[in-house]
Amino acid sequence: MGTIINGKELAEKLQQQTASEVKALEAQGIRPGLVVLLVGEEGPSQIYVKNKQLAAERIGLRSKVMRYPADVSELELLEAIETFNDDPAYHGILVQLPLPKHIDEEKVLLAIDPHKDVDGFHPLNLGRLFAGVPETIPCTPYGIMKMFEAYEIELAGKRALIIGRSNIVGKPMAHLLLAADATVTIAHSKTKNLAALAREADILVVAIGQGNFVTQEFIKPGAVVIDVGMNRDANGKLQGDVNFAEVEPLASFITPVPRGVGPMTITMLMQQTVEACRRQELGE
Ligand code: NDP
Repeated sequence: MGTIINGKELAEKLQQQTASEVKALEAQGIRPGLVVLLVGEEGPSQIYVKNKQLAAERIGLRSKVMRYPADVSELELLEAIETFNDDPAYHGILVQLPLPKHIDEEKVLLAIDPHKDVDGFHPLNLGRLFAGVPETIPCTPYGIMKMFEAYEIELAGKRALIIGRSNIVGKPMAHLLLAADATVTIAHSKTKNLAALAREADILVVAIGQGNFVTQEFIKPGAVVIDVGMNRDANGKLQGDVNFAEVEPLASFITPVPRGVGPMTITMLMQQTVEACRRQELGE
């Protein structure tokens, strides 16, 4: 039987710590601010942004959501980013992805002041992470590292397999695990004999976006299994990339979906907004 990593509980604890930091900053007349730019009126992004806004309010951040219609021009979006780059009230700027096809995502990410890029997606921040001198780290893999820390899961010398190679989850996860001295492999849709490869892993992180994909034949007994996936089944119910019922008895630690990785992602966003504020206001 595996220990179920309670991401929700850990997230609440860390958010309380961040809220105390916000209070301490306020006593010095400083209020950390986060602005979220949301394009379009439909899709899961609405829920993600709502949750981010609620968390920001809960911990006492100045929080603003800028909403734009789905047909907003790239130029208008870039100009808005420029305005917030120059606005000292906002220490963090987040553009909710994905963007509509007519907008160049890379151009938009590049326009954000890297010091205000609290999502850690700006190429400069990704480059810093890959070079081993991170400033802001993509929130999902960062939250997973906090889980390893909280549950005292040893990483040094362990074999880690990450399934999925996106810039926002898989690749930064690989670099964080590498920095923690794990021996890292990244798998993707062209990987051959994936289940056999996965059975060699002490640490398995799955971020592919396919419900219940990872079954018991992927698991080395005693492995640590982290499920990043957020998928909807036919009834609209949230489902991870890992078949929890099959895998949980084999794993030493496992994250559930929901109440696993998801709440940690938002928590790291809040924390990195406060850190960005400290750097901008106090030169830390
Ligand atoms: P992407 O779609 O950007 O990347 C998916 C990756 O998975 C790709 O590298 C792809 O390979 C790989 N992949 C897809 N199918 C397979 C397969 N059958 N076998 C092996 N590899 C496969 O996804 P994201 O990284 O953005 O997100 C992944 C999942 O995590 C989604 O469910 C998303 O909703 C969730 N997510 C959850 C977050 C949270 O806070 N909990 C935050 C961010 C994402 P290839 O490159 O070859 O195409």
